[in-house]
Amino acid sequence: MGIRVFGWLRRKPVEKGHFAALDSARFPVFAPGSVWLVGAGPGAPGLITLLGYHALGQADVIVYDALVGPGLLDMANPKAEKIYAGKRGGKPSPKQADITLKLVEHAKAGKRVLRLKGGDPMMFGRGGEEVQTLARENIAFRIVPGITAGIGGLAYAGIPVTHRDTNHTVVFLTGHDEKGGIPQGVDWASIATASPVIVMYMAVKHLPSIAEKLIAAGRDPADRLAIVSNAALPDQTVLETRLGRAGELADASVPTPAVIVLGPVSRYRETFDWYAGSLRENTIG
Ligand code: SAH
Repeated sequence: MGIRVFGWLRRKPVEKGHFAALDSARFPVFAPGSVWLVGAGPGAPGLITLLGYHALGQADVIVYDALVGPGLLDMANPKAEKIYAGKRGGKPSPKQADITLKLVEHAKAGKRVLRLKGGDPMMFGRGGEEVQTLARENIAFRIVPGITAGIGGLAYAGIPVTHRDTNHTVVFLTGHDEKGGIPQGVDWASIATASPVIVMYMAVKHLPSIAEKLIAAGRDPADRLAIVSNAALPDQTVLETRLGRAGELADASVPTPAVIVLGPVSRYRETFDWYAGSLRENTIG
């Protein structure tokens, strides 16, 4: 009998609301002097992980990117110092070295430093470079993965990144290198026909020349191309065309950020396109 009462008391917080269960969850300690690299997900704040949400509440300093979805910082510890480290193509922006230096400085000052990055921190997000510096400086760190735009962003557009009927492989590439050109490190001739699906990040600017390179290397110009802009955000748009017509987009204004998917998977949008209408009014996701 007594045990039953005790059990009822223990469960009580859960009855108040499902999220209260998290209060007793055994989250890892966000130690002073450490840095957590956290993926914020592609846009909607609800797409951050529980660990990321925990870190937001604990952090003393938050260094965040331009692509961190709106609303997420409202969920942070109100006393946290928030430092914008936005980098968007073509606009003046803090240097990567300066951002990394900030992380090091604040960690060495004994702060809990949250490095909040759009999508997944290790996917075209230079998270690896930041980790290299932290490791060199002997600063404790944790990597909290996030939902990357090239998977979760596509899902918000009703595009499965794989489907058994269409592809067993995916290629992820960036269409932009640090100098602003097409990355020299991409072997266009090899990847052109290597995978039915190619997901491109940061590729809007150079899309016409990327399309030319792929077609020259044997990719079918009739292949589907979908451009998902502002994925998982209320102003999400999807533009559908064919690889051979990518050149026509050169002058059209494609909203950014945008993730581009080449290959048959965008045909599923016809039936999978769920993020529409009043669903977009929910600012969490
Ligand atoms: N680490 C991030 C990618 C950073 S590179 C991730 O895992 O998603 C920046 C590129 O990501 C943008 O140029 C765009 O291609 C893509 N991207 C990020 N957020 C996006 C969004 N909400 N909608 C569409 N593309 C997005």
